[in-house]
Amino acid sequence: MSGPVGPRVVLATRNTHKLHELRRILDAADVGVQLISIADFPDLRDVVESGRTFAENALLKAGATAAATGLAAVADDSGISVDAMNGMPGVLSARWSGRHGDDTANLALLLAQLDQVPDGRRGAAFVCAAALVTPDGHKVVEEGRVTGHLVREPRGQGGFGYDPIFVPDGETRTTAEMSPAEKDAVSHRGRAFRALAPHLRSIA
Ligand code: IMP
Repeated sequence: MSGPVGPRVVLATRNTHKLHELRRILDAADVGVQLISIADFPDLRDVVESGRTFAENALLKAGATAAATGLAAVADDSGISVDAMNGMPGVLSARWSGRHGDDTANLALLLAQLDQVPDGRRGAAFVCAAALVTPDGHKVVEEGRVTGHLVREPRGQGGFGYDPIFVPDGETRTTAEMSPAEKDAVSHRGRAFRALAPHLRSIA
């Protein structure tokens, strides 16, 4: 049996749901690098996500991680953009209810805010920016998006975050009702990281 091959690349996320999705997507894309977790660097400080766009935040996270570890780093920034809310929560998706990462409260608040919005105007998109930064300063960022609409009652046990209320275009199920592989095939994160894969292969 052969051991891991290719350069080590740090996945710069502490969100375990996203970490699993990223590993799955990049492993399927056969990028030829060893993906290691930021958890292997317990002294790293969290990066302040001060960017105005998903791309800015993804580059901030990957850049800080590459600088601190001396290794190539990939990061994503993602969220949901709701048509009836002029694109919000957007980059504030993870902390929409005030507490970073409180998925249950974030989803409940968004549903309450959309209570009066009729079925025909509940369009939304999941958006993801995927960034790669190498220690020698090479930077690239790719964006993926999936459009759909928001239902009124959460459905499904899979995924995380706003998955239980998001139905992709052409689907009747929420992304929380889809299998991991089905979600990856259409998801914003799947699209962004498949677009990043050739850049990762080029450093392998
Ligand atoms: P980030 O960790 O700053 O990128 O924040 C991402 C936030 O956007 C998450 O906490 C979720 O609330 C939401 N989000 C991003 N991607 C997804 C997804 O695939 N499903 C459901 N919610 C997502």
